[in-house]
Amino acid sequence: MKRNDVNRDKLSPMMRHYVELKDKYEDTIILYRLGDFYEMFFEDAEVVSHALELTLTGKSAGLEERVPMCGIPHHAAEVYIDKLIKKGFKVAICEQLEDPKFAKGIVKRDITEIISSGTIINANSLNEKENNYIGFLYDFEYGVVLTYSDITTGEIYSEILEKNNTDIIYKVLSLEIKELVTNTTTDKVLIGSLKDNKVPISYNDNLLDNEYTNIYEDITDDRVIKSIKYLLYYLNIDQKRELSHFQKVKIIKKNDFMEMDIHTKRNLELTENLRTKERTYSLLWLLDNTKTAMGSRRLKSFIENPLLDITEINKRYNIVTNLLEDFITAEELRNDLYEVYDLERLCGRISFGSASAKDLLQLKSSLKVLPSIKEKLSKIKYYDTIDTLDDLYDLLEKSIYEEPPNSLKEGYLIKEGYSSELDELKSLSKGGKDFISKFEIEERERTGIKNLKVGFNKVFGYFIEVSKGNLNLITDDMGYIRKQTLANCERFITPLLKEKEDLILSAEDKIINLEYDLFCGIRDKCKEYISVLQKIAKVISEVDVLESFALVSEKYNYVRPTITSTNEINVIESRHPVVEKVLKGEEYVPNDIIMDKDTDILLITGPNMAGKSTYMRQLGIISIMAQIGCFVPAREATLPIFDKIFTRIGASDDLVSGESTFMVEMKEASRAIRFATKNSLILFDELGRGTATFDGMSLAEAILEYIANNIKCKTLFSTHYHELTDMEKTLKNLKNKHVSAVEEEGNITFLHKVKDGCVDKSYGINVAKLAGLPTSVIERADSILKTYESKEKKKDVYIQTTLPLNFEEHSSVVEEELKKIDILNITPIDAINILSKLKEKIK
Ligand code: ADP
Ligand code: MG
Repeated sequence: MKRNDVNRDKLSPMMRHYVELKDKYEDTIILYRLGDFYEMFFEDAEVVSHALELTLTGKSAGLEERVPMCGIPHHAAEVYIDKLIKKGFKVAICEQLEDPKFAKGIVKRDITEIISSGTIINANSLNEKENNYIGFLYDFEYGVVLTYSDITTGEIYSEILEKNNTDIIYKVLSLEIKELVTNTTTDKVLIGSLKDNKVPISYNDNLLDNEYTNIYEDITDDRVIKSIKYLLYYLNIDQKRELSHFQKVKIIKKNDFMEMDIHTKRNLELTENLRTKERTYSLLWLLDNTKTAMGSRRLKSFIENPLLDITEINKRYNIVTNLLEDFITAEELRNDLYEVYDLERLCGRISFGSASAKDLLQLKSSLKVLPSIKEKLSKIKYYDTIDTLDDLYDLLEKSIYEEPPNSLKEGYLIKEGYSSELDELKSLSKGGKDFISKFEIEERERTGIKNLKVGFNKVFGYFIEVSKGNLNLITDDMGYIRKQTLANCERFITPLLKEKEDLILSAEDKIINLEYDLFCGIRDKCKEYISVLQKIAKVISEVDVLESFALVSEKYNYVRPTITSTNEINVIESRHPVVEKVLKGEEYVPNDIIMDKDTDILLITGPNMAGKSTYMRQLGIISIMAQIGCFVPAREATLPIFDKIFTRIGASDDLVSGESTFMVEMKEASRAIRFATKNSLILFDELGRGTATFDGMSLAEAILEYIANNIKCKTLFSTHYHELTDMEKTLKNLKNKHVSAVEEEGNITFLHKVKDGCVDKSYGINVAKLAGLPTSVIERADSILKTYESKEKKKDVYIQTTLPLNFEEHSSVVEEELKKIDILNITPIDAINILSKLKEKIK
């Protein structure tokens, strides 16, 4: 049954309210509060019951048929909401705004919160080590602005991109934007491809004017401001989020950081491994020894944004050096960092008004170590410092009770001595309780009933309980009023008891309310410190990352690189840091990577499994480590600054359009060739192998020539085509390298050592043997190879590779005969005759 097909006049008032509300939230699942349940109706019920495997029931709502319905218990809602968000739904919570008991007519209900993948703030559903970005894509005629923000921390960034759909999609995927908002007029093709790549899309066409203007007050570009205002409207008005913790927008410019696209990020396994897409075995995994969640997030952003400025890079090296030299201070500082909670997200919760008493205690513990951190920062000559916020610490220390309950509506939030009004109420309530115990003793004496008890429950309040056997001792003049009869006792009240009860209970009510108000006041006070806290968080997270660099560098023997402006690479005994770490038992074989300023290309040959891809990745990773300020796995390292890294490594399938491997290969090659400058790094691993040998070889050669003559940037190029090694003779800036293997009696051992010159054997059959192919297949392959080799020697291979079009002219007599046969018009006997004639010709 569809919501829009039903006769609305017939609907019950509540269901009419529902459908009218739903009209406004077309793309959102509404969880409609009915008593202890959140219910969904019509299409929402059908979709969600399917997605979460819930029972689909029905509700009578005035129509002949029952309306489809499914529900979740409100106390378990969080779990279900999480699941819905993970599946890409958007969820709106519709609460009861008044107590159904006192409601006249239908209960007042309205949307109180909207949750989507980009705007989750619930700590349980967020990964503390990752940012959770929501973006706005503003399509102006000649380009787009991508503004994105993590609302839990208040960071916000804007970047202007060229109008190239592939680039835009790569950018969105590479930032792992969890939800992308855009105008309804944005290019449909682009939005379609984004959806194909599982990016949840939301729409908003309204601007938020005159509010939170501080976020963009320094910006002059109208297009950027517009994209921010669109995003703010969506967050503040549509999603009802408080944004007072938002920081000033940061404009990301192309020339601020090393450029690398999503392929490079994936191929070099910077933040996740290629196979399982998990953090394990990535560079991030290796380097992450941070002590705070903020540090872990900062490290990820460091890795994704390597620096280009030598001074900035050296500033980081200097701190790592100081930390390694003054290892005692480094260790003490690490212990302090351990005490710091996620200040960025605490600021978010303070701003949203969702910070609990425990959150404020976490804030207090974090503030407590600031003086010590500040002192250590100056000891290691850190390039920045922090405020210590002693007054905020004092406020929290004297106000927030140390063991508060989870809820803010049960009292026990505020310490004694903070508010005289609260202390008075508490002593009143305590006096009342003292009265009750005294009253119990007095009544026992007055009535002579030794087991008389004064009890309390929520329905009757305070009462006197007398067991059945003693009832005869109660006389009328005692003023007992019967309230309740139980199996073996009776419960009474007296006017005096009720009078005191009112005092006690109203004091307790007042205490709870007052504690709540005081708490909110303190939380608001914290709000005033948000921007200072965010500044502190930035310093702490960065120093946490540098501590992590120092720790890893020490542990694995990394060396401080020298950054040069002379465009040469001189890395001695370098290793691939992750492969080195995961090699169990075996020794990693270090290799030199040396390219003087006149060498631009290393052409690397060698058998499969020799270590070519690893060697190429090694240079990519070492360059990135160097440019994020980390030491590198080598004995000695001199490196230039790379402005961009392009890679084509392995046969990763296309993310965007499902094109064939070869097409993707060529597209990546074309991007590299178009956008590389002489300061870029290109890593091409067996480029061209996705097509037939001769095409592949020709393309590879042409591309190499182009790089060598026009771009002249540092390039590592591995290949199976030994023919290409002749290029060393004609291209001055190309050098041959090979990775060696030794063969003994048909068995092959890989040495993983990169050496000068080229090899002419590819050992494919030896590798196949290692892989366990049956002996008969290996032997047969070997003999086929021998016939090929003897034929090859007679021809000029080089000419064939560059003139593939000549193939046609070489077609044989047999081929010509075959072409003439008209299969449909010959008999089987003819066929046998032709066949025997053809065989004759081959001989
Ligand atoms: P290729 O690209 O030449 O086929 P890979 O680079 O994929 O070879 O390396 C094959 C395997 O050899 C890797 O999985 C790695 O474990 C190992 N390996 C590569 N280089 C080294 C090295 N320098 N030292 C030790 N093992 C290495
Ligand atoms: Mg390889």
